[in-house]
Amino acid sequence: MFEGAFKKNVEQSFLRAKKDIYDAFNLIAQLQKRVDELEDKLRVKEHSPIQPKYIVASRKSRIAHQGSCVFAKNIKASNARVFNSIENARASGREPCSCLSHLAQPAI
Ligand SMILES: [Zn+2]
Repeated sequence: MFEGAFKKNVEQSFLRAKKDIYDAFNLIAQLQKRVDELEDKLRVKEHSPIQPKYIVASRKSRIAHQGSCVFAKNIKASNARVFNSIENARASGREPCSCLSHLAQPAI
């Protein structure tokens, strides 16, 4: 009687441990998937032409922005055009957004 109960107890302990290990593996797999997703996101960001330091504009827009501007963040990377100066952005027919006012010369 006691031996039977002991055996059952040991069996159940092993089953619980097995389940815990199985759950841990599942959790690790989920976390690895999330890490992969975040790494992909970071790679896309690193290769985006819209970087905080750049002057950017959408090919479809007449306004140029600092890459860190909220409007610049809405520009699709495939539509982005990067300028090395406000003068070059103006030469392409674009006006600087107020986010570039620290760089812009007054247009007289
Ligand atoms: Zn802007």
